[in-house]
Amino acid sequence: MRPPNPIQIVPLRTEALAPVAPARLTYRGGPMLVSAQVFLFFWGDAWQQDAQAGLMQRLNDFFEYVLTSPLMDQLSEYDVQDFKIGHGSRTGAIAVGGAPPPTANDADVQRFVRDQIASNPAVAQPTPNSLYFVFLPPGVTSELDGSSSCVNFCGYHNNDGDLYYAVMPYPECDGCVGGLSVFDALTSTSSHELCEAITDPVPGQGYYDDANGEIGDICSWQTKQLGGYTVQLEWSNQHGACV
Ligand SMILES: [Zn+2]
Repeated sequence: MRPPNPIQIVPLRTEALAPVAPARLTYRGGPMLVSAQVFLFFWGDAWQQDAQAGLMQRLNDFFEYVLTSPLMDQLSEYDVQDFKIGHGSRTGAIAVGGAPPPTANDADVQRFVRDQIASNPAVAQPTPNSLYFVFLPPGVTSELDGSSSCVNFCGYHNNDGDLYYAVMPYPECDGCVGGLSVFDALTSTSSHELCEAITDPVPGQGYYDDANGEIGDICSWQTKQLGGYTVQLEWSNQHGACV
């Protein structure tokens, strides 16, 4: 069963707490991404400016790396009969000019991704393993179910039918920078959402813990260095710990 409000967000660092109950993810029978094919959108003119353009390149490099990294290997403990989690790939990236709404809600993002898939030949067409990351520019607030970025969360992933996507507001508050550089905050939050979107692409229907949420929620803002990047720890049932 789908929990009423599955946790699919990265909380603010100030709200990241130890699990309320001993954590254990259980599989709910839904799909998983066995070889995540990640396409990146950088939405808004601001991404063409120098500071953000540099970040965009570094985020591309990060995804190239992380999708074939030990972070993917460690997810294989969650393999089930129909879904064996392996390496993925970055299928492309694009900067889309114009201005997103100052408050981009979940429907705005869904519409943006669907419009891009339908009309932009540079965008990879969806497969059962596709995951679209939408990076928002500075000054744009993300909104989900009445919650907002920098008030309640720092990023989330979701689905619209079999369209899987993650939304990454630009980290502009202490709670979402978390004492890191902007780039490190983005890779940490991206790794959190990536691992969750792989193991629970339809929130609450893949691997989930009713008390503690998804694989990344249990370990929010606990980070490690991997290949020179900052990534978030993820919950391991096998180790009974964040690894
Ligand atoms: Zn999460």
